Amino acid sequence: MTAEKIRQNALRYPERTAYSCGGRSITYGRLWEEACKYAEHLKRITSSSVIIIASKSPETVTAIAACLISGLPYVPLDPAVTPARLEDTIKLSGAELIISDEKLPGPVTCCSLGELTGCRKTAKSEYTGDTAYIIFTSGSTGKPKGVPVSRANLENFVSWISSLEPLCGYEGITVMNQASFAFDLSVADLYYSLCGGHTLISPEGTLPGDYENVLGTLAKADAAVMTPTFMKMLLLEKDFRCEYFPLLGCVFFCGERLDAVTAKKLLERFPGIHIINAYGPTEAACAVCSVEITDEIISKYPLLPVGEISSAATEIRIENGEIVLRGKSVFSGYLGEETGGYFSENGVNCFRTGDLGYTENGLLFCSGRRDNQIKLNGFRIEAGDIENNICKIPGALQCCVVPVCGKGGEAKSLTAYVVAEKDVTAEYIKAGLEKLLPGYMIPKKIVFLNSLPVTRNGKTDRKKLMKL
Ligand code: AMP
Repeated sequence: MTAEKIRQNALRYPERTAYSCGGRSITYGRLWEEACKYAEHLKRITSSSVIIIASKSPETVTAIAACLISGLPYVPLDPAVTPARLEDTIKLSGAELIISDEKLPGPVTCCSLGELTGCRKTAKSEYTGDTAYIIFTSGSTGKPKGVPVSRANLENFVSWISSLEPLCGYEGITVMNQASFAFDLSVADLYYSLCGGHTLISPEGTLPGDYENVLGTLAKADAAVMTPTFMKMLLLEKDFRCEYFPLLGCVFFCGERLDAVTAKKLLERFPGIHIINAYGPTEAACAVCSVEITDEIISKYPLLPVGEISSAATEIRIENGEIVLRGKSVFSGYLGEETGGYFSENGVNCFRTGDLGYTENGLLFCSGRRDNQIKLNGFRIEAGDIENNICKIPGALQCCVVPVCGKGGEAKSLTAYVVAEKDVTAEYIKAGLEKLLPGYMIPKKIVFLNSLPVTRNGKTDRKKLMKL
């Protein structure tokens, strides 16, 4: 169905740009033609999932479309993935093929999209599932957690996002993508655009650092999908206002808390702009509910709502203070042995999100986490993931990672409290971590302690560490 929608757009708008990044673009006509060609090759050379090192390029989008057409699940990975994470991902996903512009060492065949047609390979395993893609997120055990999202989950998400006001009323608009294709937020812009016949554009660089490029791209966009953190960085620019960005009519936020100050500033600079605050985890295809944030909502609710229950993509309920999802959007369990919050209820997929929440006037509010999952600059991080990796470094004996929070409770940076052998230094720990984890997971500060504080029931006292 998702692939069929792209095919229909290729028939209707063959000359329209489907995707563009850094001056390189691909039309719907070519995207479909090329993707079909590569889909045929993919089916010939593998029957397992396909890792795509997802740089922002027309080739990456073509590779994604080729996987959708071939029926093989794709595993998008950020180009900055470390060899250790890549190895874990290969093992867990069973991938036999990596599509990448760069040659990567490893046990599986690695080729660029162009080289794919020359690949010969005998498939080892037969893939029979209905997974559309597998996104890897931080796992509390120290290994990435594979979240397979089925075609049915994805289709449910696409119909939901395409029916949202004002997104449903747009025709042939330009949408800006911010997130890496390896993170679930990009599912929103990628599929809303490709299935709706819109043009998706990505800036070549990112923030902070490349304002010129990002603002230049945003100036062409009618709508944008981004994290609140990204918007906060945009708002630092005085010229980010409607006079200079007259096209921008809608911003879709998801992935972390949108605070009232940011929403208010955006409405002041862009009167009449549509601000959509959406909520959901990777485990339920990116987002399951949303609400438009208006001046009225801001003045009524200091903690902004994250969605209207009545128009959610899946059933939402609160159980012992925790947000639980049930139904069509929900995945059917992690790869491997990880169980996490997944469960089945009379054959229907359910997910205990770990998010604390409540409902009021038909609106959902997300008030925090019940575990040690941290959202830092939009990145989902399990404290345990970093802790387990620190303990892999020789000389590091024990550790606990906590967020350093701003006034609104949002994580600003991470600090690792480490018990280590005598000569171990912070630089040594950071250098060790660089080989194991992506940059955004490396704590800014490493503090050495003789021992970690413990609560009365014998657990590490995280709250105490957060107050240090
Ligand atoms: P991810 O799987 O990376 O999309 O992260 C999902 C988690 O991000 C959720 O379980 C929430 O903790 C958080 N999250 C997503 N959307 C929102 C939102 N609108 N407001 C607050 N937290 C959010």
